Amino acid sequence: MPSRLAERLAQHTPGAHAKKTFFVNSGAEAVENAVKIARAHTGRRVVAALDHAFHGRTSLTMAMNHRVAPYGTSFGPFAPDVQRVPNSYPIRDGLTGAQAAARTIEYLEQRIGTADLAAIIAEPIQGEGGFVVPADGYPPALQEWATQNGVVFIADEIQAGLGRTGTWFASEFFNLVPDLVLTAKGIADGLPLAGITGRAEIMDSAHPGGLGGTFGGNPVSIAAAHAVLDLLETGAPFAQAARIERTLTDGLQSLAQKHVVIGYIRGYGAMIAFELLEPGTTIPLAGLASQIAAHAAKRGVLLLTAGSYGNVIRFLPSLAVTNEQIEVALEVIGEALAAYNVA
Ligand SMILES: *Cc1c(COP(=O)(O)O)cnc(C)c1O
Repeated sequence: MPSRLAERLAQHTPGAHAKKTFFVNSGAEAVENAVKIARAHTGRRVVAALDHAFHGRTSLTMAMNHRVAPYGTSFGPFAPDVQRVPNSYPIRDGLTGAQAAARTIEYLEQRIGTADLAAIIAEPIQGEGGFVVPADGYPPALQEWATQNGVVFIADEIQAGLGRTGTWFASEFFNLVPDLVLTAKGIADGLPLAGITGRAEIMDSAHPGGLGGTFGGNPVSIAAAHAVLDLLETGAPFAQAARIERTLTDGLQSLAQKHVVIGYIRGYGAMIAFELLEPGTTIPLAGLASQIAAHAAKRGVLLLTAGSYGNVIRFLPSLAVTNEQIEVALEVIGEALAAYNVA
């Protein structure tokens, strides 16, 4: 039942406040509806997204993405009243969470102003942006500023949420309690479903008939999501995520000792990435990332590159991946580094 699933999401999303959930069919649709709800609630028009963000491929969400290529190229014009502001990207900005938040807030105040700002949307750990983990304290500082200024804070947990990082939600790493939390991707294990779960008084802002859709909350997807939550509630997937994190980070750290181009191994659970950098610098080596991915594909290992500079290799495996499979992937990456890396 959709209402029972909403209760379960209310229980597991951060914060003990009264919550409601609206079910739709895809992540992008969840983002779109969160923006509509925030606008109705605040009576304001602008939504702010962060540098290196990814929020989807629909008309509104492609305007919210950091990268125009490949998501927006040739698909304009783009939706107005979307602004992007700097995020926290510790190796590149060298700022603490508080400093990075102060910089973001300065941009928000100067470029948009609180009178017009409906919402800030942030991925607590960025996905397509290269698994960028913000500095400690950054997300809650933004939430605090948002609350003080009547701005809705939306956490896009579509990639990082629901067990992937070894916690229910990545927001937990930062003690972040967002106003709205978006879920999709893993929620129904491949069937189309997404949710907007948020403070009841915000969720109730839209007028009757204003939000909806033909297929949202369809019974088959809802049943699949109940099965996913049943599994998560056993705790077993969290243990798997922790195992994957250990195997991957240990393996990558030993590779990094041989190959100095591996920098900044980061992430949690089954969401781990590393950057390829010119040794001793933060200069991205995008070409090497594609060479490694191409070599790995020939050896039967499919790697995903990521990041605004194209130099990140990310691991986003199923929680069922075995340590042996991870070892094979790492071995193939080692081979490719030995073949292509001159440093
Ligand atoms: C995948 C993704 C989306 C879009 O979800 P779709 O279901 O593909 O529309 C939005 N935000 C984040 C962070 C994502 O990873």
